[in-house]
Amino acid sequence: MARIAEEVINKIKSDISLVRLAESQGFKLVKQGKDYAVCCPFHEEKTPSCIISPESNLFNCFGCGAGGSVIDWVMKTQSVSFRFACEMLQKDLGVIAENSTSARIKNTKTKLAAPLSADADSQTA
Ligand SMILES: [Zn+2]
Repeated sequence: MARIAEEVINKIKSDISLVRLAESQGFKLVKQGKDYAVCCPFHEEKTPSCIISPESNLFNCFGCGAGGSVIDWVMKTQSVSFRFACEMLQKDLGVIAENSTSARIKNTKTKLAAPLSADADSQTA
């Protein structure tokens, strides 16, 4: 298993907006000065005490002490490993070129079609 490069991790932490990510997950963010407050996903509460800072791209809950980067957020909200969270977020970044995989599948299909037509030729002969 190859390790995830430090620069990829840093890119995820700096380029993927935690505010945007939380919003896309359906969390209601309340603007609070230059930060955003959200009802903490990690403990039960009625008034939002989990602060997301767009400036540092970190979250910090004053209720239960949860905090960290966008990667920690995904790990905790999705209950996934560090590696899985990184892979999910890498796809968001477009680091993984998914197009190359689908191109390879198309090539396999055209190769498989060839023996069939050769067979058809031998039958008519
Ligand atoms: Zn909390």
